[in-house]
Amino acid sequence: MSIQHVENEVVAFLQKLVQTPSLSGDLSGIADIVEFKMKELDFDEVWRDEVGNVIARKRGSAPGANLLFDAHMDVVQTGNLSRWHHPPFGGELDRGRVWGRGATDTKASLAGMVVGLGRMPRESFCGTVCVTGSLEEEVIEGAALAAVLDAVQPDGVIVGEPTDCRLAIGHKGRCRMVFTFEGRSAHTSSPQAGENAIRKMTAAARRIEAIPLLSDSLLGSNVMEPIIVTSSPNPNASTVPDHCRLIYDRRLVRGETPESVLAAHRAALSDLSGWSVAYEHLEIESYTGWAYRAPDFHAAWAVDPDSEWVRRAQAGLEQAGLPPVVYTAPYCTNAAVSAGERGIPSVVFGPSSIALAHIADEYIEVEELRRGMHGFVGLAQSLSRFKGSQPV
Ligand SMILES: [Zn+2]
Repeated sequence: MSIQHVENEVVAFLQKLVQTPSLSGDLSGIADIVEFKMKELDFDEVWRDEVGNVIARKRGSAPGANLLFDAHMDVVQTGNLSRWHHPPFGGELDRGRVWGRGATDTKASLAGMVVGLGRMPRESFCGTVCVTGSLEEEVIEGAALAAVLDAVQPDGVIVGEPTDCRLAIGHKGRCRMVFTFEGRSAHTSSPQAGENAIRKMTAAARRIEAIPLLSDSLLGSNVMEPIIVTSSPNPNASTVPDHCRLIYDRRLVRGETPESVLAAHRAALSDLSGWSVAYEHLEIESYTGWAYRAPDFHAAWAVDPDSEWVRRAQAGLEQAGLPPVVYTAPYCTNAAVSAGERGIPSVVFGPSSIALAHIADEYIEVEELRRGMHGFVGLAQSLSRFKGSQPV
């Protein structure tokens, strides 16, 4: 099969993926499309797990590493339809671009992995490569991928997200912290008879903002950004609120754990009373009925820029004709579980730019999609000769 044919095939498959809406919780249709395509290509096994992830496996011609390529199948909402000039689920090919929700985030990576690795000659790589279309990344990073990691036990993981075909060797983690303040209601004409929960919140917020940020030599420092404030009773005329909630989005650096972050905040607010802090709990139920509930905490990670793993990944990109640029990504991905929680060597790589994700008129350049597909193949061929810290 000619390169030209494969390059056309990846574009057509991306169009098909974009034309199949895959909003969170409703991923049965996209899973069918991905499974069908995987079966059409040259994989040894294709299966679905109980979560609903679709997985394909292909063995190379010699012993080597066991690699997992992951891209999520779910997309975010379209937002205001009047802002779209191309239908969000049209998958139109126009002016050298494929248009629609998910074209960049992350159906391009998924198409590049499935077609690129599915058509990759067996003599060209070692070990085993698995490709998964995973679920619900936009809701909880890594929760669904965890089941695939259990099943595949990979030596290395390549997470497909828009990096402009650069190699992301780490990223900050993130968590969402909910501070709750309890007071006592009173008539607002005599607030001293009660205890205003909003005043408690503002006093606490000043302490929170004064906690020094931690810094990380590769990832930079924490971000601690307030995003939601609510109080009650509300609306309710002339009543001193007895309850207030303040939610922060925190970007985490390496070494921070669920316990360490809470402990630092409890210490800083220890002389205040009537408040508590916890992580927000997220819940998902997949199309197979699999239900998951967990605190919204995702660890930071980075791999050693001088490691054999990174060197081989760079060599793979060069082999694909791409510059071997290494950086750390500004956003959080499924690698928070593969690398952040489990310590499996990981990289994030994919075509297109994060600036084109989650926007109206999302698109990807066809040329960029092709570069990404060749990048995945180069990574598979080079990294499959890596195992532990040693070449195989
Ligand atoms: Zn996204």
